[in-house]
Amino acid sequence: MTFRTRFAPSPTGPLHLGHAYSAILAHDMARAERGAFLLRMEDTDLQRAKPEWDAQIIDDLTWLGLTWDEPVLRQAQQLRRYDPYLAQFEKMDLLYPCSCSRSQIQAVLQAPQEGTIHDVYPGTCKHRDMASRQPGDALRLHLDRALDMLPKMPVFTETGPAHAGTHRIDPARALAEIGDVVLSRKGDEIVAYFLASALDDVHQAITCVVRGEDLFDFTAIQVLLLTLLGLPVPTYHHHRLIRDETGKRLAKRDDARAIAKYRADGLSPHEIRRMVGL
Ligand code: GLU
Repeated sequence: MTFRTRFAPSPTGPLHLGHAYSAILAHDMARAERGAFLLRMEDTDLQRAKPEWDAQIIDDLTWLGLTWDEPVLRQAQQLRRYDPYLAQFEKMDLLYPCSCSRSQIQAVLQAPQEGTIHDVYPGTCKHRDMASRQPGDALRLHLDRALDMLPKMPVFTETGPAHAGTHRIDPARALAEIGDVVLSRKGDEIVAYFLASALDDVHQAITCVVRGEDLFDFTAIQVLLLTLLGLPVPTYHHHRLIRDETGKRLAKRDDARAIAKYRADGLSPHEIRRMVGL
């Protein structure tokens, strides 16, 4: 099977050193394997994603010397493409509508767990059925039912340095740490980011998902969703994160480390590679 990977930024801010590392690493892996490197804009957050950031990211990646082998996939251009998958979950009786706001959820959760990917939903709307769906409701996955439905727990292969090996989804951990995740967002009824991302990895026939270590916890959810839909599960490679001097992960807000800034300061793509240890 030909190696295919991708870089999938959300165009909600500038490309910084951490992104550059991720993109260059994925690109170099694809080139070393004589495979394909693809670019996908994860722009489903219609409020925060901006065409200016999209253009700047493309300009920075080009400056870094990266090339991609297929036209850029922009998720927001075909938002209804994900609906059949949501319909499939609905047919499996795995969805329920939810009208809870973030603050309502916070209020119910007595001790929000720090360090988990998100707060585990307390189940306020879990009794509701799809017939009670109101415009603007989110759709959540009945995780317990989903896990019960699987004859055996899915496995995935990780090739990244921190977690290399085969991982089997642990149902108890999934219930405690993932919970009833949102698959369609409240308010705008747009597919949730991690479902769109997993579906597009399949859509783009990605064989190895290369991305930051910070997304490792999402992988179990994505593997579970793909398995429930009967779709192939790629291999994952979560790489180290680029941190600042204090050990903090670089965030998009961290404009000081934006590639555009280094470009303006006269650095070369080669120097950027060196800075991120490539
Ligand atoms: N769009 C995500 C981000 O910008 C990355 C998703 C992925 O690589 O799976 O952080």
